[in-house]
Amino acid sequence: MSATSRFLRTLAILLAAAAPLVAQAPEGIPRDLARQRAQQLQDVRYRLSYSISPKAPFIAGHEELRFVQNAYARGILPELLDFREGEVKSLTINGQAAPATIQNGHIELPAKLLRLGENVVDIDFTAPVAPAGKAFTRFEDKDDGSEYIYTLFVPMDAEMAFPCFDQPDLKAKFRLEVTAPLEWAVISNTTGVETFEANAGGGGIHRLEFPETKPISTYLFAFAAGPFKKVHDVPGMPGLYVRQSKLQKAEAEAPEVQQITADGIKYLSKYFAQPFPFPKYDMVMIPGFAYGGMEHAGATFLREESILFRAAPTHSDHLNRDILLLHELTHQWFGDLVTMRWFDDLWLKEGFAQYMAYHALADLKPNENVWKRFYQAIKPAAYAIDSTQGTTPIYQEITNLKDAKSAYGAIVYSKAPGVLKQLAFVLGEDGFRDGLRLYLKEHAYANAEWSDLVGAFERVSKKSLSEWASAYIKRRGMPQLDVEWTCAEPSGVSHVTLTQHNVLPEAGTWPVATQVLFHYRMTESVLRVEWQGTKTNFGDATKGQGCPQWIFANDADYAYGRFLLDPGSRKAVMASLGGIHDVFERTLLWGSLWDSVREAELDPSEYIELALKLLPNERDEALAQSIIGRMTTALHRYESPEVRGRLVPKAEALAYDQMLHSKEADMRIIWFRALRGVAETDKARARIKDLLSGKLVVPGVELRPLDRWNMITGLVALNDPEADALLAAEEKRDPSGDGRKYAYMAAAARPDAATKKLYFDAYLHDASRPEDWVEQSLGLFNYWNQEQLTLPYLSRALEALPQVKSQRKIFFVLGWLNAFIGGQQSPQAQAEVQKFLAGATLDKDLKLKILEVSDELDRTVRIREKYASGKPEHGL
Ligand SMILES: [Zn+2]
Repeated sequence: MSATSRFLRTLAILLAAAAPLVAQAPEGIPRDLARQRAQQLQDVRYRLSYSISPKAPFIAGHEELRFVQNAYARGILPELLDFREGEVKSLTINGQAAPATIQNGHIELPAKLLRLGENVVDIDFTAPVAPAGKAFTRFEDKDDGSEYIYTLFVPMDAEMAFPCFDQPDLKAKFRLEVTAPLEWAVISNTTGVETFEANAGGGGIHRLEFPETKPISTYLFAFAAGPFKKVHDVPGMPGLYVRQSKLQKAEAEAPEVQQITADGIKYLSKYFAQPFPFPKYDMVMIPGFAYGGMEHAGATFLREESILFRAAPTHSDHLNRDILLLHELTHQWFGDLVTMRWFDDLWLKEGFAQYMAYHALADLKPNENVWKRFYQAIKPAAYAIDSTQGTTPIYQEITNLKDAKSAYGAIVYSKAPGVLKQLAFVLGEDGFRDGLRLYLKEHAYANAEWSDLVGAFERVSKKSLSEWASAYIKRRGMPQLDVEWTCAEPSGVSHVTLTQHNVLPEAGTWPVATQVLFHYRMTESVLRVEWQGTKTNFGDATKGQGCPQWIFANDADYAYGRFLLDPGSRKAVMASLGGIHDVFERTLLWGSLWDSVREAELDPSEYIELALKLLPNERDEALAQSIIGRMTTALHRYESPEVRGRLVPKAEALAYDQMLHSKEADMRIIWFRALRGVAETDKARARIKDLLSGKLVVPGVELRPLDRWNMITGLVALNDPEADALLAAEEKRDPSGDGRKYAYMAAAARPDAATKKLYFDAYLHDASRPEDWVEQSLGLFNYWNQEQLTLPYLSRALEALPQVKSQRKIFFVLGWLNAFIGGQQSPQAQAEVQKFLAGATLDKDLKLKILEVSDELDRTVRIREKYASGKPEHGL
């Protein structure tokens, strides 16, 4: 809410003060209010009619709301409807006109106009539409001038689109009518039927009516409207829609997108023993959509850029797209059919969607080493957040729905699926599956809590999970597991001790089930170990096999925690890493070495040197990509300018060579990206410019517009003398809607103070800029080599957090902090963050986010102090 509208609202409340108000309506939706309403109300139905006029800053709507009020000892109770930022034109309750005052985002329905049993409320209202910051987003397609409007409500913005009981456990049936320009399609939770058409002159309109939905939560109701086209329309296949200017591109990708989705529906229906829970399944691609996807019941919205690749894609990019599609699909059961009662159990839907997406893909594409990909994509973010002071338990207490946005992050998307993998290992695959089946069956079209799920697993497996749940669900943090062992030839290992401690300075141990790997020169063996407490001893089990080269305590990645190698094993691993045939094992060990770097136990230069040595022979694209990414991070963050100056030319030369000579196209693509990422010297920048001019090509790879824009952005950020001319030329060459966005992003990386000032002011005060433009430019504004230019904005960015939280979509706050804190590397910046934390009065969730993100800055300072020579000066 902007300062102006807050002022007007205060004024409205003051003016309305003469009218008798029962009590001050609360801000947001407190947990208690939600509990009361869930008890008092049932059988909620919304019948909504919207009339859309192109370009208008609001949408006019009519709502008929029906609900049953239960009988209570105190008689009939008043009810609060939630409605923010719109206007009520008229309100009648059971046929009688009522005052339509909005107070703190609520409309009061007075008890005297309500009755026991069914009530009918009729409301005429308008709701705002804008390019950013509202529940209705308008997208203008610069490619062909078309306009699109779509809803996005999660977690509590439905109340910006219509008056409602905006909480997940008041599931309702929705009927929808939309009147819109004749050439517009409308996609919603059910399939619309045209019931009216008028063609007056050039601008006709039509009305589409959508049959009533199954009971769904308010945040799962949605529609998208505009000249969308249905792509590759094949009977029996899920529907796929795209804006008309991208139809041709979408036609090429559609068969693959539809096939994995159709296969996923088949697989999940069988796995869950529940047929697809809604009457149809459509997917709508939306440019600049705030998330990868949103799982509205029967109508998933997808970020167009995640489906229609803007840069030359690798095989991993295709598989990541499969994961996104399967994630949103899983939500149709986990989230939509059975919904968490409150957003404190957000992990129930996000953790499962993430875990089951990999589970399904592992079955559908058995040759893709999917669980290795799970480890690579999921675990690093989980372990990173869980070792910070900003972490929370998986179950996150949320006392008001207005704070629910902050529940989204690595805890629900990464820790929760990681913990579920551990649980499946404890219960066994069958027990895990049967527990899920029971849970879905018992709570279909209703709501549930984490204890319902754990209860289902306990009933099926006959195992008590109370200790397990209190450690993994209710407590924050994670264990670090250390291995200590002794061995002598020829008798072999005489003892192995596993110890655990909390990575946070807090008490607590975790029940652990893991598979320990013993790697011998010629062979390997594994041992399942389950224990609770700080320490366990074993070793006899492997006696007689001689001495292993190394022991790793989380083979196949079943357990959840930090697994560092003991010094002897680490030395052996670093000597033989390139020769390990099993790519999953190789990946886990590279991961463990990186953890050692982040713990300031391994010199980042050693990691980089090892990467430079082994990467030329690394044939696994996903692993190579992750090593390159970490090597680049170490170069840009952890090294002194001197060491970077010595290592960067080596990295550049390797990238250039591999980009030209790797056998597989996928590898040439990732090495092209690597060259772009590390290029600093004149020589490497000249090569980037040759790629742009066409003098140099990546053999067999057709670069796409975003590849070109990324190269230009890098040159701009590095202050290359030709960068401005190249940027101007590219703007002419690519005047598309995407091109305008990328040009805006590239210019954010310009290393001068005037640019930074201009962009920063606009971030906070220009509401007309689409949110994805802003969000995707933040990291470029804070380019790694510009900390001195951006440091002055650090505290201002922190001070703006409450505004950013209230005005922006879910992931924006985290992106904001990652950019502004993540752009810094110095003790001065660290001190500024600490000073801000000590002085500010902040919502608890915001404070935790700062603690989460600033952990990487703390580590950077620690690593540089320990290893970087020539400290403390560094930077540009
Ligand atoms: Zn999700």
